[in-house]
Amino acid sequence: MDRTIIKFNHCETDIYRFTVLPHFTEANEGAPSHEEFKQCPLCFETLAFDLLNAPVSVPRPFVNAHKVPCAFAIGSVHGPSFIGEWHDTELHVGITSSTGVVHNYTLSGVRRDDQGWEKCLCLQLVPPWRNNLTHTWDNELEQFCSTSDWTPERFHEEREFGSCCYAFALAFVNHIQVLEGKTPLSKEEFTGTHILPRIKTISKYIQVYQAIAQHGFYAAGQRKV
Ligand SMILES: [Zn+2]
Repeated sequence: MDRTIIKFNHCETDIYRFTVLPHFTEANEGAPSHEEFKQCPLCFETLAFDLLNAPVSVPRPFVNAHKVPCAFAIGSVHGPSFIGEWHDTELHVGITSSTGVVHNYTLSGVRRDDQGWEKCLCLQLVPPWRNNLTHTWDNELEQFCSTSDWTPERFHEEREFGSCCYAFALAFVNHIQVLEGKTPLSKEEFTGTHILPRIKTISKYIQVYQAIAQHGFYAAGQRKV
């Protein structure tokens, strides 16, 4: 999912396409040629964009968790398209340190990954201007990881959403909440308010991406995918 999606309006419809790559490569397969690109895929009229309706690029909903300090990160070993499906067994959850090291709970205990979380859903939890909290975050994270709660022996492969890696990450978020004098969040609260809306955005992006890959474009409201 490395292509850039652009959006423009024609035929009173929002139309989504990949950008044209400058040179033909295998990755460019299925993308419109320069000639096709100048036409509306619905009415085949030549597109004449002026300044106010120029195509805009659609931001990718995935980010490199190693570049997002003090965050709750959700990734999938099978690639980012699995994040949108919210199959709990496919997802892995971690907490980044201030330097982007992803701390995550696995069968072998707590791992500290400095790579492998390049396409994730990330929820940054500490605003950059709170230097004190950033410092506290790192210290607390190290201490939290070394408690006996997160040993390999205690990792149960329940294959159930909310267990293991998710519980580890949420427990840490709540640990910081309490330190900050705030009420801890239940799993339902945290997931419903902070995670599921983002998952929905990702699902929609993936749906549009796959439709473009298949049909060359996606027209909002016209073509059901
Ligand atoms: Zn048109």
